[in-house]
Amino acid sequence: MQPLFLYNTLTRKKEEFKALNPPFVGMYVCGPTVYSDVHLGNCRTFMSFDIIYRYLTHLGYKVRYVRNITDAGHLESDADVGEDKISKKAKLQQLEPMEIVQTYTVDFHNVMKQFNALPPSIEPTATGHILEQQEITEAIIKKGLAYEVNGTVYFDVEKFAKDHNYTALTGRKLEELLENTRDLDGQGDKRGRLDFALWIKAKPEHLMQWSSQWGKGFPGWHIECSAMSTKYLGEQFDIHGGGMDLQPTHHTNEIAQNIAYCGKQPCNYWMHTNMLTVEGQKMSKSLGNSFLPHELFSGNHPKLNRGYSPMCVRFFMMQTHYRSTLDFSNEALQASEKGFERLMESYKTLQSLTASTSSSEDIKALEAKCYEAMNDDFNTPVLIANLFEAVRIINSSNDKKTTLTQADIDLLKKMYQNFLFDVMGLKLEDENNKTTEVLGKVVEMVLDIRNKAKADKNFALSDEVRNKLAAAGVEVKDGKEGSTWKI
Ligand code: AMP
Ligand code: ZN
Repeated sequence: MQPLFLYNTLTRKKEEFKALNPPFVGMYVCGPTVYSDVHLGNCRTFMSFDIIYRYLTHLGYKVRYVRNITDAGHLESDADVGEDKISKKAKLQQLEPMEIVQTYTVDFHNVMKQFNALPPSIEPTATGHILEQQEITEAIIKKGLAYEVNGTVYFDVEKFAKDHNYTALTGRKLEELLENTRDLDGQGDKRGRLDFALWIKAKPEHLMQWSSQWGKGFPGWHIECSAMSTKYLGEQFDIHGGGMDLQPTHHTNEIAQNIAYCGKQPCNYWMHTNMLTVEGQKMSKSLGNSFLPHELFSGNHPKLNRGYSPMCVRFFMMQTHYRSTLDFSNEALQASEKGFERLMESYKTLQSLTASTSSSEDIKALEAKCYEAMNDDFNTPVLIANLFEAVRIINSSNDKKTTLTQADIDLLKKMYQNFLFDVMGLKLEDENNKTTEVLGKVVEMVLDIRNKAKADKNFALSDEVRNKLAAAGVEVKDGKEGSTWKI
């Protein structure tokens, strides 16, 4: 097996991957907070780890992939103030918090399935591991690195930092962090401004709360990942991942918790994916610039010209390396769609190629280049470039300009199966996706005609089109930025 190199965020170096206990690999990835639909940015991170999971499995590792569901303890602000996101939504909608959790967990699973992402081996929830979180909190208090004030338990960052490098993951200076962090006003009873909550006292009106030795409360966000990764992967495992926005707070605090708890850095390799951006800005729920997967599939979004299939979107994401930012645009999606279709067409052509007795191509060398790309920190754009070389070879052989032996054709088939389908997780479009895509295009076309009618001041026709669409089950809403529709 060729060595696999991956970029370790902790050491800021590309390192050779060595499993702690081969052939087993433990991989933990921070999952979604299930208080609203996952947006395309979240999907990018989960799809990147899906490819890492698939490639490690392809190499023969037995991967235990743990991806949690955050269903409690994620407050609106990282400074331990504000409400729990799920409880807040439950109150607004007059639902049980677990109804919110169920709705968005199901949505998340559906979206992952549409993108053909494999389910993790274990998907534990924060609410299912309250005891484990309490145990770790208690152990950290015993070690003298956490303290309780009025029913809330805080991690003592400055005390921890006396003997450990608290900012190892980001390389930031502790003094600068202290300078740049707001004063303690409004931050509860913390002793130090960098201290963070392991357990939070619940106000009586707080919907999700559990009994503890510190009174009724709920866990802090970071402790859930320490508890669940340790429980299912041990005190030290191979890979820990998440989006790079989690580095400075969530993962920095997770490392501190684990070291305080058991004296060990939780994993050997920290991996972080870069952000999906829109016009250069991180896609995020709070900035209001997020796209939901179903909006992208149907084209029903003011910034989209039309819809794109899940596989085209998956391919679009893989055309950029996971550590680079990826900017979302209609043009980039259209280019990806063309590329994806060319690849899939060539797969069909490959099935009907006729073999010659001699070959004018070196397919083995091309296969080696595909492995080289993936072994170089999962470089999917270079892998794709090599697959396009395979497309050239297939088309040229089909046009009888060059020749391939049966062994070449078989190897090309194996390469498509391994890299395109198994590792990149792409698949031929199914009929349902195609129908949704075509329907989206038709509705957009009808709305274009309606816009022309409006521009000609033919309001009778414009209203007729809207009413007929409504009768067919398509609701159209006119807004400042144009019309949106939903079925
Ligand atoms: P959340 O549900 O907000 O905790 O996010 C779930 C995962 O999505 C985390 O690993 C985040 O780092 C990641 N994430 C959030 N926004 C983006 C984005 N714009 N691009 C890529 N990953 C993101
Ligand atoms: Zn986490």
